Amino acid sequence: MVSLEKNKLEWPTIAELMIPSEKVAHVQIGNPLEHALLVLVKSGYSAVPVLDPTYRFQGVISKTKILEETLGIEEFELNRLGEIQVNEIMDTEVPCLNPDDHMIEALHKLIDYPFVCVTNERGEFDGIVTRRSILKQYSKHYHEILKFYE
Ligand code: AMP
Repeated sequence: MVSLEKNKLEWPTIAELMIPSEKVAHVQIGNPLEHALLVLVKSGYSAVPVLDPTYRFQGVISKTKILEETLGIEEFELNRLGEIQVNEIMDTEVPCLNPDDHMIEALHKLIDYPFVCVTNERGEFDGIVTRRSILKQYSKHYHEILKFYE
């Protein structure tokens, strides 16, 4: 919640902004690409987080990465979807946030990524912050400021 009371700006925490883990579509490191592609196509998302069996965040798998991997010389080799595991091709060099980080951290990281994963001090997956949620907050904040100076 953005508040300008007493001239003091209050920003929501990452924990308040994030989509909690139970509402986030994800896949497991050992899943075949076939399963990951199914989750991505059914959910309509272009990428989802990858977790290990203890719910620790490991990386991100995207439709683009899967399609790149299965593209042969002249055609897609879809039979390979069942042979390759998610952990073999997922992106691991992705930024993360902590639940108590400031919203500006999320803004910086979301410049280059449509969503950023939130992990706790044990590396467990807590949820995601999306570009959409941050843009909504900044838009709300902008209008609060305009109203404040009217
Ligand atoms: P948005 O900003 O809402 O368009 O979301 C940007 C990206 O975040 C989507 O393309 C997905 O990769 C990811 N995302 C958003 N919501 C979810 C969710 N509930 N589960 C998994 N991934 C999500």
